[in-house]
Amino acid sequence: MDFRLSEEHQMIRDMTRKFVDEVVEPRAEELEATGEYPYDIMDQMAELGMMGIPFPADVGGSGGDWVGMHLCIEEMSRGDVTLGALLDVTTSVVAQELFVFGTDEQKEKWLIPMVRGKEIGAFGLTEPGAGSDAGATKTSAVRDGDAWVINGTKQFVTNIGLKNASLVIITAKTKAEKPGEKDQINTFIVSKGTPGFSLGKKYDKMSWRHSATHKCIFEDCRIPAGNFLGKEGRGFAQHLAVLETGRISIAAISVGMAQACLEKSLQYAKERVQFGKPIYSFQAVSFKLADMAMNIELARNMYLKAAWLKDTRLPHTLEAAYAKLFASEMVEKAASDAYQIHGGYGFMNEYAVSRYYKGCKILQIVEGTSEVQRMVISRFL
Ligand SMILES: Cc1cc2nc3c(=O)[nH]c(=O)nc-3n(C[C@H](O)[C@H](O)[C@H](O)COP(=O)(O)OP(=O)(O)OC[C@H]3O[C@@H](n4cnc5c(N)ncnc54)[C@H](O)[C@@H]3O)c2cc1C
Repeated sequence: MDFRLSEEHQMIRDMTRKFVDEVVEPRAEELEATGEYPYDIMDQMAELGMMGIPFPADVGGSGGDWVGMHLCIEEMSRGDVTLGALLDVTTSVVAQELFVFGTDEQKEKWLIPMVRGKEIGAFGLTEPGAGSDAGATKTSAVRDGDAWVINGTKQFVTNIGLKNASLVIITAKTKAEKPGEKDQINTFIVSKGTPGFSLGKKYDKMSWRHSATHKCIFEDCRIPAGNFLGKEGRGFAQHLAVLETGRISIAAISVGMAQACLEKSLQYAKERVQFGKPIYSFQAVSFKLADMAMNIELARNMYLKAAWLKDTRLPHTLEAAYAKLFASEMVEKAASDAYQIHGGYGFMNEYAVSRYYKGCKILQIVEGTSEVQRMVISRFL
C-alpha cells in the first residue's frame, strides 16, 4: 500500500493551491458580500483545465483521474467553497453523466464545451415534494412525435443562474406504455433558453451568496427526442450513480473548508496575546487545533480512498457515504472551534471564519443529508 501522491497529483494540488492563494482567497470576502459571480476566475479555472481533469483528451479533458480532480476541489474550496461546488456540480455530476451515458452527438454538443470550461452544467433532481425522497418526482415527460414535453418544477438548482450555464439535466416521470407496467424515471437534457423553461428568482441564501441557485420551471417545455439521456428506465439509477462521485466531492469541499479554518485559526492563535501570552500557548486552544488537524487528516484520507476506489473501478458507494458524512460533520465542528478561537472577531464579516461558520452546515444537506448517508451505510452493515 502506497499513500504517497503521484507526481501528477502533487502538481495538480500545488497548481491549485498557488492559484487559490494568489487569485481566489483575496477575493472571497468580496464575492460573498456582493453575491456577484467571479466569471473572470472561472475563465482562469477553465484555462488551467480544472473542469476536465478526469476526462480523456478526445472529449477535451486532461486524461487525469478522480483523485486528481478531488485534490483540485479540496484546494479550491479552501479559498472559496462555491468554486468547489461549481466543480462538483459541473464535472463530478453533470459532465460525468454526459460522459458515461451520453451519445456521441450529446458529447459533441454539450460535454466538450463543459469539459473545456466554456460552459457550465446543472442538475435538477430536487422538487418541492421530492427532496431526500428523490424518487417521488412529479415532473413529467410525455412523448409527442419527435419531442418530449416536460412539465414540473425543480428547486434549489445550483449553477443554473450563471450566464454560461448551458443546460440542466433533470429526472422526470414517464408513463408506462402498457397496462401492468410501472411508470419510469428517465433523464433528460434541457438547454437553457428552450421555450417553456424559465428560472425562478435567485434564492436569497444565508451563505454561498454568489452561487446562482434557482428554481427551474417547465411549462409545456418541448425538447427534441435526442435530449433523452442514457437508457430507458435507468434515469434514476444513472443519476444516483454519478451522485456517488458528488458525495466524494462534497467530502473534498468540506476538507478544503476545514483546512482553511485550521490555517486561519492557527495564525490567529499565534498572534493574539491574552494574559501576556499568545493564546496558542493555552492548551484549551492548542488542543482544539490538534483535534481539528487530526480530523482533517482522517477526512482527507477518507475522500482520497473513495476517489481511488472509483479510479480503480471498484465499488465505492459505502466509502463515498462514509467520506461525505464524516467530512461534512467534521467541518461544522472545525468552523465552530475556529470561531471560538477568534473570540468576538469570529462574529465579524471581515474575518474569514465567520464565512466558514455560515457556509459549512449546508454540506450536511446537499447531495444526500447526513440521515440519508446513515441510511446508505446502515444498509451495508
Ligand atoms: C444551496 C443548495 C444547493 C442545492 N443544489 C442542488 C442541485 O444543484 N440540484 C438538486 O437537485 N438539488 C439541490 N439541492 C437540494 C438538496 O439536495 C436537498 O435540499 C436535499 O437533498 C434535502 O432535501 P430537502 O431539502 O427537501 O429536505 P427533506 O428531504 O425534506 O429532509 C428534511 C429533513 O428530514 C430528514 N429526513 C428525510 N427523510 C428521512 C428519512 N427517511 N429518515 C430520516 N430522516 C429523514 C432529512 O435528513 C432532513 O434532515 C440544493 C440545496 C441547497 C440548499
